[in-house]
Amino acid sequence: MRNNEKIYLDYAASTPLDPKVIKKTRQVEKIFGNPSSIHSFGMVARAVIDRARSEVANFLGAASREIIFTSGATEANNLVIQGLVKYWQRANSGKAKPHIITTVIEHESILNLIEGLERNEELEVSYLEPNKNGLVSPEDVRLALKQNTILVSVIFASNVMGAIQPIARIGKIIKEYRKKNKIQYPYFHTDAVQMFQWLDEKVDDLGVDLLTFSGHKIFGPKGIGGLYIRDNVILYPMIVGGGQEYGFRSGTENLIGIAALGEAIKILKPEYKKKVTGLRDFLIKEIEKIPGAKLNVDKSNIVPHILSARFSGISGEDLLIALDRAGAAVSYGSACASRAAKTSSALLAIGLSEKEAGSSPRISLGRTTTKEELVKFLKILRTTIQNLKK
Ligand code: PMP
Repeated sequence: MRNNEKIYLDYAASTPLDPKVIKKTRQVEKIFGNPSSIHSFGMVARAVIDRARSEVANFLGAASREIIFTSGATEANNLVIQGLVKYWQRANSGKAKPHIITTVIEHESILNLIEGLERNEELEVSYLEPNKNGLVSPEDVRLALKQNTILVSVIFASNVMGAIQPIARIGKIIKEYRKKNKIQYPYFHTDAVQMFQWLDEKVDDLGVDLLTFSGHKIFGPKGIGGLYIRDNVILYPMIVGGGQEYGFRSGTENLIGIAALGEAIKILKPEYKKKVTGLRDFLIKEIEKIPGAKLNVDKSNIVPHILSARFSGISGEDLLIALDRAGAAVSYGSACASRAAKTSSALLAIGLSEKEAGSSPRISLGRTTTKEELVKFLKILRTTIQNLKK
């Protein structure tokens, strides 16, 4: 993906709109009825939402009524945690404190929220640590389960290093635990934002009750995402009003965004996986030839599009800035609203030193990436590293 000949390798942060998605938004722009109106204008708008919802539902092997649209993954993650804690507090009149099991490598929209609730003494939390390849152990989940565990939330693929978690194995443990104890909790949630475009398993295979996704990581628009909510799951809504989205998320629906997200999912193709994996493997092979360069996690268990490597003796932030000047965009640390680059806590969690984590950019590819771009990028990367070492 080029922008004035610049090379974009930050697809894990956001993707461009696919031309088919743009075409879809142009069509839907003309539809202005309120999807909740009973008249024909409303029905036309409602049909657009229904179609997109069934697109997501088919993709996930879910029923349409189990899919809701939100303003993005951040909101979906917030709805899971806040909605469940609030429901539990009301159902138990604040008597028992709920317990959540999560990992230290979750996205900020989970971690910051859970840490805040924990500080407020509304929650008890078990934080699971990954191994040196970024993987959490299903056995650790089993050991952390308690009578008051209401939720296990595990990121599907790390947005920092791409490590894919053993979601189906964790799902099985949780299912067995619930069955053995004849209880409905804990629910199992996964933030599947970075995995979604590669997903070939259905929600029942994974054993998840809740699954978060986002439009702008899969060549759809920003500001739209959603949540799969298994039909027996009860959450208290965060946004209350007219009862749209099956009561989970009120407010007139983002018609264009929803239609665009549905289209982005409809056009996902299994062959993209092969293409991007091939490009990534080429990139890995070439990067490993650079003196002092090393992959941060084993490449056998990462998503096709994310590559985290360290470059000894180089500051990741300096590298990002120098690469950008030279015409290539990668990412470093956790990008947040302040735009300040902070060493990634996920990299520290897999046992890297501050220095190693601090020398690790994230390079992420998309289905529109080409081999020529990567060849050009590698040339820029080698020169930039040489200059920074001088
Ligand atoms: N979870 C993960 C794993 C992510 O990578 C992101 C985006 N950085 C989010 C959640 C937040 O997504 P959104 O931008 O749709 O709120």
